[in-house]
Amino acid sequence: MFRCHCRDCQQLTGSGHADMTPLAIDDFWISADLKNYEMSGGSGQSTFSGFCPNCGSQLTRNSSRMGDRVYVHAASLDDPSIYEPERSIYAQSAQSWDKATIIKSS
Ligand SMILES: [Zn+2]
Repeated sequence: MFRCHCRDCQQLTGSGHADMTPLAIDDFWISADLKNYEMSGGSGQSTFSGFCPNCGSQLTRNSSRMGDRVYVHAASLDDPSIYEPERSIYAQSAQSWDKATIIKSS
């Protein structure tokens, strides 16, 4: 579980970072419609931002490069209290007003 400060996550969430929970795609089930927005990832391969087509809430991220897993926005989980972030990624991209939220891994 991690906090991502990359520009994609900033722009998708309208915030300083995204709090993400990786899950095996075979163990993930969603009970309603999900629409995917295709983007070009840093590797040049496609990444997908999954969102609710009714309210627009950000739900998932996944990529063809890591096809066996899905990254779920922690606050969208049925039980968000399971989220325990261990580290920040792309911390160098954090906005100055969001640097206090960077988690330094031990
Ligand atoms: Zn990100």
